[in-house]
Amino acid sequence: MLDDEPVAGRCRGRWGRFGHWFGRASGVTLAAVFLQPVGHGDIVRDGPPQRIAADGVCHPDGRVGKVMTSSTAQPTVKLPGDVRMPLLGFGTWQAHGESAHRAVSAALDAGYRLIDTATAYGNEDLVGRAIAESAVPREDIFITTKLPAERVGREQRTIDESLRMLGVDQLDLWLIHWPPTRGDLVDLWRRLIEIRDAGQTRTIGVSNYSLAQIDELIAETGEAPAVNQIKWGPRLYDKAEVQGHHERGVVLEGYSPFKTTRLGDKTLTRIAETHGVSPAQVVVRWHIQHGVVVIPKSVTPARIRSNGDVFGFELTDEEMAAIDALGH
Ligand code: NAP
Repeated sequence: MLDDEPVAGRCRGRWGRFGHWFGRASGVTLAAVFLQPVGHGDIVRDGPPQRIAADGVCHPDGRVGKVMTSSTAQPTVKLPGDVRMPLLGFGTWQAHGESAHRAVSAALDAGYRLIDTATAYGNEDLVGRAIAESAVPREDIFITTKLPAERVGREQRTIDESLRMLGVDQLDLWLIHWPPTRGDLVDLWRRLIEIRDAGQTRTIGVSNYSLAQIDELIAETGEAPAVNQIKWGPRLYDKAEVQGHHERGVVLEGYSPFKTTRLGDKTLTRIAETHGVSPAQVVVRWHIQHGVVVIPKSVTPARIRSNGDVFGFELTDEEMAAIDALGH
């Protein structure tokens, strides 16, 4: 079995962000893409040779793992509590009814292992149904949902309802969807910490928060959000924002990668042509090479497959810089 064959891959940190391994076994090309988990929110830079582990993540102790095919190997970033979050996820906003259910099923079949939903999307039950029907085991799927800001004071009821709709007994990540407009930012964060500590979610984070708001949470509770999900894409690229999250140990998760991008942009189309991929694939790959979690949404099966098919090519440093420059 290819998946059980031990290999000595190396975490080269080639882009200063994550490593990539290609090899051939029994005539099949294999690929493993991985991050070296150094600490909370840490992403590998050049370091000593590592080995690929069974979970697709490089372990500093050099433990040997198993080969993964490109469909199962997923780059991950480490969150507190030794939780690994895939860098590639699937968005579900504005996906409703049977098309939402079909889209999530197609995404899981295509290899996505992070599904992003929210109480406000009104589709948690459809996401849950697709997860329950999937052949992918629950423990291999990273589920994110979000608490609407207006549910302040009803946090417990909201997470109970999300878990019931999703058909699971624990979330992987629960986010505060927007900073609350009433009530205190810090009190709400304390509530989330209590709920996380009670075991209903493995990790907690925020969405649409500024770095100043994150600083307030850290100063008052000593605990940083694991993740901040914000609008992100090449045109919004801001090195200081990336650095600011990194310094605080907060994983940056980008949303609306396509809506914020002109996919016909000549830089993107030129790079896409070079690699024989679509501009949308270039945008997804650009996030991943930056160590930013990306959650493209589509209800179109061919797009779902193609948007997630980003592990067969790599952007050069020059190409990354050219895409970064779209944000200036
Ligand atoms: P997006 O993923 O940037 O774009 C989705 C749109 O792009 C859809 O209209 C989709 O059409 C189209 N599309 C998908 N693949 C394409 C391709 N290869 N070529 C051309 N068009 C393509 O936008 P988003 O849904 O706003 O953001 C992604 C996810 O982030 C959401 O679904 C949600 O999970 C999350 N989000 C979070 C927040 C927040 O406040 N935290 C806000 C917004 C979004 P089809 O579906 O028709 O294929």
